Amino acid sequence: CGIVGYVGPREATDVIVRGLELLEYRGYDSAGIAILEDAEFQMRRSVGKLVNLRRRLHAEPTAGHQGIGHTRWATHGAVTEANAHPHRDSSGRVVVIQNGIVENYLELKGRLIEQGITFHSQTDTEVIAQMLGLYTAEYGDFQRAFGQVMSELRGGNAVVAMDQTQPDLILAARIGNAGAVVIGHGDEENFVASDLPAIVDYTQHMVFLEDGEMALVRSTGVEYIKLDGTPISKTTTTVAWDP
Ligand code: GLU
Repeated sequence: CGIVGYVGPREATDVIVRGLELLEYRGYDSAGIAILEDAEFQMRRSVGKLVNLRRRLHAEPTAGHQGIGHTRWATHGAVTEANAHPHRDSSGRVVVIQNGIVENYLELKGRLIEQGITFHSQTDTEVIAQMLGLYTAEYGDFQRAFGQVMSELRGGNAVVAMDQTQPDLILAARIGNAGAVVIGHGDEENFVASDLPAIVDYTQHMVFLEDGEMALVRSTGVEYIKLDGTPISKTTTTVAWDP
């Protein structure tokens, strides 16, 4: 439902949780974040309102300059902590958040189970994480693996992912028309969100992804490509903002 990602000098947890709060009006039933801390993901998830996630973070803080967060509106799988995003693959290498519905997730899940993958949630989203983990290991190329996974999904999806062996990189993509993905271009910092209010306090320079487009978001800049890796050039829109 709500997506926020950040890479740059700020404390990522603060930017992400604040951004998710600014998207609360959209409604959600659970929330979670993954922060890259010393080359490992720290995940915190909780059912219910963001205040619960904040409480969890108060007890078990995360610190790092890169992360992703999500507020979930459950479509596949009950409202539980295990079903809250982010989802991680079995190796623990990649984390994923998703808005939308993976229409062919049962077929994809069946294939993964045949390959010996054990699932830890009931969501359609974990299928993306498990596929991404497998393909990343197989290709030795996170970005190519992400494009391939996205091209196998059916439905309308906004997906954001990180690989713990690739610091300073967040990948975001959109297929179909269900979920918006906006990239906020800052100064030595960049942002990903499902909606403008989450990030407009930090930058007003935005790029909107279209169906089949992918962004490679680093602190130093953003590259745009098609799912097959072909570079594309995107126009930055400067949005009006009243502080
Ligand atoms: N279909 C996904 C799930 O149920 C994503 C829901 C959403 O858009 O928040 O976990």
